[in-house]
Amino acid sequence: MIWTPNSIGRLIELSKTKLSSTKIANELGTTKNAVIGKLHRIKIKNGHIPKPVQLRTNKKVSISHFKKLGKKPCNLCKKMFMSYSKHDRFCDGCKRCSPYTDC
Ligand SMILES: [Zn+2]
Repeated sequence: MIWTPNSIGRLIELSKTKLSSTKIANELGTTKNAVIGKLHRIKIKNGHIPKPVQLRTNKKVSISHFKKLGKKPCNLCKKMFMSYSKHDRFCDGCKRCSPYTDC
């Protein structure tokens, strides 16, 4: 089917009446798949034009991950250090040096 501005307008009108795609297709003299495809391409669902998707901009970032957990012993040098997360296992001094260098 070749979609003309008139047939597209008729399609939009019929889609607002909540008729099934098959009935709209019979009305327009085309196939159900042509109707579904055209409604999808012009982004109309049951006569409803969906809102454009908005990106979340003011997403709240949890700061609990960065809260101070208190002092705990370093896994390498056993010195007490201030830990900022439960995954923080090494003191700042040990984080800066690699096990293969002297620091
Ligand atoms: Zn350490």
